[in-house]
Amino acid sequence: MPEIKVVENILDANDQIAARTRQQLDALGVVALNIMASPGGGKTSVIMQTISALKDEARIGVMEGDVVMIDVEKVAALGVPVTLVNTGGNCHLDANMVSSALPSLPMDALDLLIIENVGNLICPAAFQLGHHVNVVIASVPEGDDKPYKYPAMFRGADVLLLNKIDLMDYIDFRLDYFRHGVEVLNPGVAFFPVSCKTGEGFDAWLDWLRARVAQRSATNEA
Ligand code: MG
Ligand code: ZN
Repeated sequence: MPEIKVVENILDANDQIAARTRQQLDALGVVALNIMASPGGGKTSVIMQTISALKDEARIGVMEGDVVMIDVEKVAALGVPVTLVNTGGNCHLDANMVSSALPSLPMDALDLLIIENVGNLICPAAFQLGHHVNVVIASVPEGDDKPYKYPAMFRGADVLLLNKIDLMDYIDFRLDYFRHGVEVLNPGVAFFPVSCKTGEGFDAWLDWLRARVAQRSATNEA
């Protein structure tokens, strides 16, 4: 019982910081994405392809939740502002980490903030960061049972990408089974099968994201 209370208090304090961050983002007219996936699911690859496609039409900044600079350097090479959110080896980002990292980015010159969470399908789902959109990336090699094993992650998704669909012919992945698991948890969630390798499916995801960013700017100008 007391342990549950401690966890509740931590999440409460986290949510208060997240709410402040959300207010700041809204005042600036920045849409923030929280990108979550297993390690190796393709978070950085999806982020890089998204930036390459949209960087001439939207001002994009990136936060990398990590302990090493590898992904930061990859993203920086695309010519967009990027900062490392030092997780100190933690298995998820929290609102305080994100809030502390905001001053490292030119926030008043951004339309879209992409936050790459720590690779983990469990606890990142429990922590509000102040972001607007939960983007969950599953991938074909991880198997078709992920929605059944990690329900909280899939229930909380606003958008679901299924990456590495180019491997579908080589792996026994039942798309119907996967989709059924998702539909039970999160009916009607925006779903985009994609391949970072071939570019297949990216246009639909990019159109969804363009519309989401436009919606934000329209609200901000009103
Ligand atoms: Mg990465
Ligand atoms: Zn964690």
